[in-house]
Amino acid sequence: MHEVALARGLLEIVERTLTPRDRRVVRVNVSIGAAAGIVSESLTFAFLAIAEGTRAQGAELVITTVPARSRCRACKTSYAFEGLIGRCPGCGCLGGELQSGNEMVLQTIEVADV
Ligand SMILES: [Zn+2]
Repeated sequence: MHEVALARGLLEIVERTLTPRDRRVVRVNVSIGAAAGIVSESLTFAFLAIAEGTRAQGAELVITTVPARSRCRACKTSYAFEGLIGRCPGCGCLGGELQSGNEMVLQTIEVADV
């Protein structure tokens, strides 16, 4: 359940970003790398639960999954893949050097002042 820890970290960043003028959070947009192993539904559920009683209570968490990129160790082909592990389209090797796709990025926070 590392989604709970992620949701907590996310909420901390959101709260740190808010100014006193921002009365409530309407929407939080995050992107998650396909290889991060994060279950969107779990993250949303955890975020909603943790945000209770904060200015982010009831905010919509919008999650966009972005493909991961890996570089083959054998033939050095760089390729995008879905899921936790990729297969090189060049030589068929599994895995490789993960270049992106195991991260969660907070894109935008939409707030309302009423
Ligand atoms: Zn390869």
